[in-house]
Amino acid sequence: MAAALFVSDLHLCPTRPGTTRLFLDFLDALPGQAESLYILGDLFEYWAGDDDLGDPFNASVAAAIKRLVGRGVQTCLLAGNRDFLLGPEFAIASAAQVVGEPHLASICGKPTLLLHGDSLCTNDQTYQEFCREVRSTAWREAFLARPLAERHNEIEAMRTRSEEQKRLKPAAIMDVAVDAVDALLRQYAYPRLIHGHTHRTGQYQRAVDGHLCEHWVLGDWYESGNYLRCDESGCRLMPWPG
Ligand code: MN
Repeated sequence: MAAALFVSDLHLCPTRPGTTRLFLDFLDALPGQAESLYILGDLFEYWAGDDDLGDPFNASVAAAIKRLVGRGVQTCLLAGNRDFLLGPEFAIASAAQVVGEPHLASICGKPTLLLHGDSLCTNDQTYQEFCREVRSTAWREAFLARPLAERHNEIEAMRTRSEEQKRLKPAAIMDVAVDAVDALLRQYAYPRLIHGHTHRTGQYQRAVDGHLCEHWVLGDWYESGNYLRCDESGCRLMPWPG
């Protein structure tokens, strides 16, 4: 049966080789099991720009995805808040289709809206302001024009600040806002919704204007992985390794 698999929040980086190994094993096991893979953001712990493909670790992840595509598994990727600078050169190196969010896909005939999830955390206003700034074309162009080493340092500094701020925030404001979810479901004519980011893994239901919408939240990967598998009979959250 044709199946589509969904993952997010792998946060891959050279300092967590165990998670990278899990992900590479996962990719190796996919051909024959699934016809498509969707990576819904934060594949990498952070991404300083596509010129960082010169780094052997980054290049090896891109090459692994390219092998998967070569073995017949269509791979679609959207960027997360940590790797929002993933761009066209990463798309070429990985052979993945890199799409913007939200991305409306037909999964086994069912309209399914895909996004990373951070844009739904609208109760966190300081975070949303930060996003508006760094995702602007002006910021992106200015940042990518700086030397790679300088960008690495700046990202480290931003990450330290962000961790400090997160410790001070109540957990509720870092979850998706129900009114933002409802507005999006309404805008896209009540699709199934799949995202990650909040790490609040599970199946939720939203009733919007009398329409019952499935809402799936993917989990992050650390010591073990997880994915969502969807086919004609529906979706199921699965552990990896199984
Ligand atoms: Mn995220």
